[in-house]
Amino acid sequence: MSDKQSTVLGKDIGLTSCPTCHKVTCAKSTHCSRCDAPLTVRDYSSVQKSWALLITATILLIPANVYPISTLTNQGRVTQDTIFSGIAHLVKTDMIPIAIILFVASILVPILKIVGLTIYLSAISFKLPISKKRLMTGFHIIEWIGRWSMLDLFVISLTVAVVNMGQLLDAKPAPAATAFALVILLTQLAAKVIDTRLLWDRLEAKDDSSTNA
Ligand SMILES: [Zn+2]
Repeated sequence: MSDKQSTVLGKDIGLTSCPTCHKVTCAKSTHCSRCDAPLTVRDYSSVQKSWALLITATILLIPANVYPISTLTNQGRVTQDTIFSGIAHLVKTDMIPIAIILFVASILVPILKIVGLTIYLSAISFKLPISKKRLMTGFHIIEWIGRWSMLDLFVISLTVAVVNMGQLLDAKPAPAATAFALVILLTQLAAKVIDTRLLWDRLEAKDDSSTNA
């Protein structure tokens, strides 16, 4: 009931915000008066773009985990490690903190990002009966995870530094490294392209129906 005032949407009173500089402008203008970026009231195609990127990322998660991510040459002996065997190897050699960082960055974060984005996009596309509170929690989780995306790069540099410490060791990225890098990149893009105003529309519409009932 207290949310009733928030049901007034900018698009209903002829206003829109600039996607680049967030200036509130008249919805009839085609370009932002401040930064000249093209204006749209709602970008409905952004949902399709985001789905396409997210599905591609999900598919690439399979080769990223199945194929070896690194090739290690130790005194002429070549060993290949997948993400899982790499973590298992670190646990066995008592490098627990690095194993935890590697698990969080290369398994937990990408999976959480994909699950979060799937729920978020499904809520917009299929109008899932998820409460406003839960959707907002999910939205904040995705935003929070987004901040940790640099962790993947940190882990890659850390692993290379650890492995290259001994002169006799030589570490090179294997096929899964490309797939893994693409998973990170595509999930980032999927979260970036989405027009968040579409989620607000859905939340406000749900409020209307609950207050009218
Ligand atoms: Zn602008």
